[in-house]
Amino acid sequence: MINVQKNVPLAPYATFKIGGPAKFFTEVKNEKELIKALAYAEKNGLECFVLAGGSNVLISDNGFNGLVIKIRDTRYAIRDTRVECGAGILLSEIVSKTAKAGLSGLEWAAGIPGTIGGAVRGNAGAFGGCMADAVEKVRVVVQGKPQAVNYKLQECKFGYRSSIFKEKQNIIILSVILKLKKGNAEKIQQRVESIIIKRKEKQPRFPSAGSFFKNPIVNDEKIIKKFESDTGLKMKDNKIPAGWLIEEAGLKGKKIGGAQVSKKHSNFIINTGGATAEDVIMLASIIKQRIRSVFNIQLMEEAQLVGF
Ligand SMILES: Cc1cc2nc3c(=O)[nH]c(=O)nc-3n(C[C@H](O)[C@H](O)[C@H](O)COP(=O)(O)OP(=O)(O)OC[C@H]3O[C@@H](n4cnc5c(N)ncnc54)[C@H](O)[C@@H]3O)c2cc1C
Repeated sequence: MINVQKNVPLAPYATFKIGGPAKFFTEVKNEKELIKALAYAEKNGLECFVLAGGSNVLISDNGFNGLVIKIRDTRYAIRDTRVECGAGILLSEIVSKTAKAGLSGLEWAAGIPGTIGGAVRGNAGAFGGCMADAVEKVRVVVQGKPQAVNYKLQECKFGYRSSIFKEKQNIIILSVILKLKKGNAEKIQQRVESIIIKRKEKQPRFPSAGSFFKNPIVNDEKIIKKFESDTGLKMKDNKIPAGWLIEEAGLKGKKIGGAQVSKKHSNFIINTGGATAEDVIMLASIIKQRIRSVFNIQLMEEAQLVGF
């Protein structure tokens, strides 16, 4: 039996601190419980949403009219250079445990909120690194299938903030095996700490879902030249920081209700207090329109919209 609760407020589970209730809500700690939760949803004709650390979601003010499955498997084990992680363990915890164990390869992820499962699904990345560089194998449950299966690295189809798990919403990540490299624990720790400091300098402290938009691919030479001469940075993989475009378009600090374009980092939409999902959506749509009309570029949300 699984414990299913009704009308559970979701805002406390999201780093944005926004969102209405889940009509049905359950927590799962292992494969058996996940399969039972999925069977419950199927039997009752409910749509499912998998919620992990809630750090990359904007939940509708009306909540989610189905079953929210909160992933709670927080087990992990370090074996030589491999780390086996339950999908629900915090990425920050794995960064800290592996750094202490003298394993290198996840330093870039220091300070990213959310779980290992969420990070693998979105191929989270920062400071030149991403999850795809560390993943060896992913164990998943495919909705409607009675048993979990393993995906090898190539089968995960990782790309920029994307993966097969993001493409196909019916695949739920249960656990992940990471392959890291042996290194000097002290040096790894120092790099982790320096990245945490850089994050604190660059990112706002208000509730948010992190970078709201993906960095778009840009081929317009004029925009690229302006970006490179203004910032002194070289463009990587033809991607321009969405935050730079938003700032150039004069939207830094723009506010709708309680939602605001952060003055510290223009790709963060922050909840300054009492923001509704509608405020955020209205602000995001103003940003998208302005970026289209100024630069002829279409921004795409990185944050997952839930219940809209
Ligand atoms: C302050 C701040 C800074 C951030 N910095 C970064 C950054 O530097 N780089 C970066 O990439 N991201 C960043 N993010 C975004 C976010 O932290 C990451 O995307 C994170 O990996 C999301 O994990 P989560 O567990 O919170 O997922 P959630 O927000 O709970 O879920 C996100 C999506 O993943 C799905 N999902 C979650 N777990 C599973 C699972 N086990 N199986 C299948 N699907 C699943 C959910 O259904 C949802 O669609 C930041 C966010 C914040 C608030």
